[in-house]
Amino acid sequence: MNYKKIFTEIENEFPKMEDPGRVPSYIPELGSIDPEKFGIHLATVTNRNYSLGDSDEKFSLQSIAKVLALTLAFKLEDENLWNRVGVEPSGTPFNSLVQLDFEKGVPRNPLINAGALVICDVLVSRLKNPRHEFLEFVRNFSGNPNIDYNMKVAESEKQTSHRNAALINLMKDYGNIKNDIGIVLDFYFNLCSLEMTCKELAHVFLFLAAHGTHPKTKIEVISGSKAKRINAIMLLCGFYDEAGEFSFKVGLPGKSGVGGGIIAVHPEQYSIAVWSPRLNKKGNSYKGMKVLEFLTDRTQSSIF
Ligand code: GLU
Repeated sequence: MNYKKIFTEIENEFPKMEDPGRVPSYIPELGSIDPEKFGIHLATVTNRNYSLGDSDEKFSLQSIAKVLALTLAFKLEDENLWNRVGVEPSGTPFNSLVQLDFEKGVPRNPLINAGALVICDVLVSRLKNPRHEFLEFVRNFSGNPNIDYNMKVAESEKQTSHRNAALINLMKDYGNIKNDIGIVLDFYFNLCSLEMTCKELAHVFLFLAAHGTHPKTKIEVISGSKAKRINAIMLLCGFYDEAGEFSFKVGLPGKSGVGGGIIAVHPEQYSIAVWSPRLNKKGNSYKGMKVLEFLTDRTQSSIF
């Protein structure tokens, strides 16, 4: 596949393309990001790499990190995990309370906020020091000791996260949160504050393009069967109420974050990370979605 040629075309067209999206301000620390940032990195399972723009600059993963927390929780809990969180698309915004009440505190899937809070609760129950052990898990399987949290971002979210507090309180009332609410929320804010460059992010997610075993470190992060299921959840639930749109236009399992990042995985081929901070109305990177649509159309390399 001639990714080099496609990357040159992207470089010529996308950075200057008009972008009606907006940088989110509900987490104050994210509001100060330069909206013009634009980076991409594609890493193949055979260790070929293609980069452009600000691909070596760290950004806030936000909801993208939920996939990594899910990976560890699924590894530890096996099928029991699904007693506490579903695997169905939500069709509602990422922080919706309505559906959660209707479904008696069992979140639709692990990638909306409520679901990720349940995953954090599982990790708080299972691990002695979840903040440290989760970070070590990611650093270890990816072979990258430079991955870290951004405490300023975590603190900033903590100050303004009334809605996440509402979600977790509602689930506690329904009996689906086992630990202290403050401890689980703190771990969640840390998780979302995880930072990576596009290059690091694409490399971390390669295990999902390689049946659960990281092609670089050769570490089995998760079994092939579990990797299949996580990719399925990303495809159906990775973009909140725009998951159908992403599947329709891009055709890859993926996950977005309000930091402006998107990760997408082509099983047996590559993992690709894009960062462009302006978000569309559904909270997904406007240009990030467009560029991935362009790439999978031009290379005819989607899962469909
Ligand atoms: N930390 C963010 C929140 O809870 C994550 C949302 C996202 O990236 O979609 O609101």
